[in-house]
Amino acid sequence: MRLYLFCLALILLSGCAQNPVTGQSDFVMMSESQEMALGRQEDEKIRKQYKVYDSLALQDYVNRVGQKIARQSHRPNLQYHFTVLDSTEINAFALPGGYVYITRGILAYLNSEAELAAVLGHEIGHVTARHGVRQQSASQATNIGINIASLLIPGVGSTVAQKVSGMVSGALLSGYGREHELEADRLGAVYLSRTDYDPQAIIKVIGVLKNQELKDAELAKQEGREPRHYHGLFETHPDNDTRLQQAVSAAGNNTQPHFAGHDEYLAALDGLVFNDNGDQGIVRNNQFYHGKLAIAVQFPETWQLHNSQNTLLAISPQGEAQLQLKAEPRPRESLNEYAQRLAANVPIHTIISNGLPVALIDTPESLSGIIFLDKNTFILQGRYKNRDALIKYRTAMMDTLHSFHMLSNEEHRQIKPLTLRIFTARKNDSYAWLAQNSPLGKSAETYLRLINGQYPKGEPAAGERIKLVE
Ligand SMILES: [Zn+2]
Repeated sequence: MRLYLFCLALILLSGCAQNPVTGQSDFVMMSESQEMALGRQEDEKIRKQYKVYDSLALQDYVNRVGQKIARQSHRPNLQYHFTVLDSTEINAFALPGGYVYITRGILAYLNSEAELAAVLGHEIGHVTARHGVRQQSASQATNIGINIASLLIPGVGSTVAQKVSGMVSGALLSGYGREHELEADRLGAVYLSRTDYDPQAIIKVIGVLKNQELKDAELAKQEGREPRHYHGLFETHPDNDTRLQQAVSAAGNNTQPHFAGHDEYLAALDGLVFNDNGDQGIVRNNQFYHGKLAIAVQFPETWQLHNSQNTLLAISPQGEAQLQLKAEPRPRESLNEYAQRLAANVPIHTIISNGLPVALIDTPESLSGIIFLDKNTFILQGRYKNRDALIKYRTAMMDTLHSFHMLSNEEHRQIKPLTLRIFTARKNDSYAWLAQNSPLGKSAETYLRLINGQYPKGEPAAGERIKLVE
């Protein structure tokens, strides 16, 4: 009903509009000025939900490449805006009216200016073919505005942005569907062919992203985080799709030789934050550190950790016991009153651990500790599946509770974000060798191959510029 009214309102307001790519009338009718107003309005929401990546030099570089492609598009006179978002997601998306976003997450995996141009060209294709306008629906519009309460970071944090970003991009991109994705690829290829970039870069990017996706579940497990799904971008077609191959070939090439811009691109990426920026806390060897909340907890070595937006969840090897760490705003009442309210009719013991009072709730089904620290309440809640699990895991859970402490200066230093560094490979350098002593630990070799586009078996050539992680 709302969608119907929305469409009706548009028809009444704007009459017929011509599609810039096909020259035919659009089914959903919206004037260009209305489209731009819609883009501006949604852009404001995106900027509230995401953080813009803090590097003028990188923003400038991405904007330069984007404007170069946009000038060769079907809508060269539209004012385009290209923005790098501070998100680990592997994503890029566009709003109606010329607003294009790309995450630092995806930038880390690209290896040339031509590949960056391929991603931006695809998104420009969505704008010029007015996919956003054609797909604009009430449900997509409301999704963008949704606010999600964050437990681990009281108030507004980037975890909120990450949660929302999935929805925004999911709605904006997977909503486009296969035909629109293919059309965006086809248009992107045409725009690349009108510049000095090779349209084949689109196929290359798809291969890189597929490899990244294939490995990420494994990497996520090692790092105690949720896998990163990318929504939409190239999602709807595999790289061996013959229609895509045809579309890219049909775009043709009008310049030889092509400009790849490998070294230029890598130079622009030097110092880029890689993976988590620490906002959501980090896990190293099952120790959880959270810089903003200034806490650390050591979880049992063999347990599996899942660091999601709201909660850190640790699960014992056979799943017979679990521990959950949550943070909430501190209430007005005392620690004891609060604990008693959570667990009526259970005796509360207060112990002192690492200088902090801990309210203990100890029952045959569960073991929980509550700690007040500054403006936050931390709840570490353990649960046993049965009596055997209690006997087996009670000590480990108690040890975890006792490990809760405020961050030391040394630990604060440890949680600095990882960054990309550009390095010239020497003779006989291998990714296995370069991965030694890497802060990425066990996953280092895989990561280095993935981010350098040389997964699974490639090695760097002497003199080649490659990315390392520090
Ligand atoms: Zn797309």
